[in-house]
Amino acid sequence: MPFTLYNTLTRSESVFKSLTPGKAGFYGCGPTVYNYAHIGNLRAYVTHDVLVRALRRRGYDVTHVMNITDVGHLSGDNDEGDDKMLKSAAERGKSVLEVAAFYTRAFFNDTDRLNIIRPNVVCRATEHIEDMIALIKRIEAAGCVYSAGGNLYFDISKFPYYGELARLKLDELKAGARTGLDGNKRNPQDFVLWFTKSKFEDQALLWDSPWGRGYPGWHIECSAMSIKYLGEQFDIHAGGIDHIQIHHTNEIAQSESATGRHPWVQFWLHNEFLVLDRGKMSKSAGGFITLQNLVDSGFAPLDYRYFLLGAHYRSQLQFSNENLSGARNSRKSLVQALQRVAGNAAASEAPPPAGSKVFEYIDAFDAALDSDLSTPRALAVLWGLVKDQTVKPEDMLWAVFQMDTVFGLSLREALAQAGEGAAFSDAAEIEAAVEERAQAKKARDFAKADSIRAALKDRGIILEDTPKGTVWRVLNNV
Ligand code: AMP
Ligand code: ZN
Repeated sequence: MPFTLYNTLTRSESVFKSLTPGKAGFYGCGPTVYNYAHIGNLRAYVTHDVLVRALRRRGYDVTHVMNITDVGHLSGDNDEGDDKMLKSAAERGKSVLEVAAFYTRAFFNDTDRLNIIRPNVVCRATEHIEDMIALIKRIEAAGCVYSAGGNLYFDISKFPYYGELARLKLDELKAGARTGLDGNKRNPQDFVLWFTKSKFEDQALLWDSPWGRGYPGWHIECSAMSIKYLGEQFDIHAGGIDHIQIHHTNEIAQSESATGRHPWVQFWLHNEFLVLDRGKMSKSAGGFITLQNLVDSGFAPLDYRYFLLGAHYRSQLQFSNENLSGARNSRKSLVQALQRVAGNAAASEAPPPAGSKVFEYIDAFDAALDSDLSTPRALAVLWGLVKDQTVKPEDMLWAVFQMDTVFGLSLREALAQAGEGAAFSDAAEIEAAVEERAQAKKARDFAKADSIRAALKDRGIILEDTPKGTVWRVLNNV
């Protein structure tokens, strides 16, 4: 069965075929690093990770590029509102770059804990201003810009395909447009490519450009960096559904007007939102839950990953503690079931002989992922396999670990740890680790202290520093 993906551009599922046989270029919009990622954002990155893993399983040599937005992103995607980075820096009494560095580290700490494979290229907007300027010059040469009020705008009326991705009906939008937002715009959907007249007096980061000293709009960074690392046309671009209407629509307008190539990107993938029972989760508007919050309430990061895999990426997913607890129980049962299997055999290192029943499961698993990354179906196949007592244990473990190359649940490690966990429940050993951490802290070797704490946490041991010293407790999960 061929590998198919739902393409927002065509609003249909179609067979994925890369531009260069055997290779796949993928750009996923990365975080704006003014705060921690919330668990909704992390849904987007787990989706990207599953895509990358599934493509690699299908033999593609994937180049995964992710941007880090550290300049230019206003709270409204259409040039309205506060500058997210500036506001965060002012609130924290730090510089913009300090805030960016801190939350970039925090972001990758979260993605590492979720077992998300690091992208091949991680690119910071502030380190690619020259590329953005060069691209804006090409857009200017194509006749799609105007300056007004000191800023340089993209003129959507000069780009014939504007709004194709989002199926925008520009006439209707124009009639219903809110007035009085930015009087410089000729069309309501025009957007800033380069700000020279900042509305923020304290704009921290400024660069010289042909249009004056200033800074880039948000959308241009993704066009410039994706083209730089993946070429003028590439295979897949992804982000959350909130990006269809403005951000990705504007990226397409910029890239295609600059290069004259249409379509710029072959497949557009958009994940649905994670929602709370009390409504939308947003970084700027409250309802904000981080991965660390989940860990602090006793969940393992991989419980959250398992929870996400249980829903298709294009379905809205409701988050609640009960739902997450359900995922935790399932993951725990899975590891326990595998432990029983592993008690009887070691996983085959080589594939089982042709004709082994596991291949029926492997085929069903691959068919599920080939069908627009249906992780819920793939998980059901995994469970079917684990419950099938007619499959030889060593074959079963081999197949489970194959499947886990896409699930990314670290099942091999979870099994090993579950085994070690018994030995580790030896209190003396935990005490020794706690003491070693205390010594490391005394020696101001905080990296070592943190890594001891993290290693204990991975084994389900939580440390709490109290005025009387460090106490530890065992978490009731795998
Ligand atoms: P941001 O850091 O705000 O640019 O968002 C990072 C990624 O998270 C983008 O791809 C968004 O579309 C996506 N996103 C934001 N909120 C949610 C949510 N509640 N559920 C799923 N994805 C989200
Ligand atoms: Zn983007």
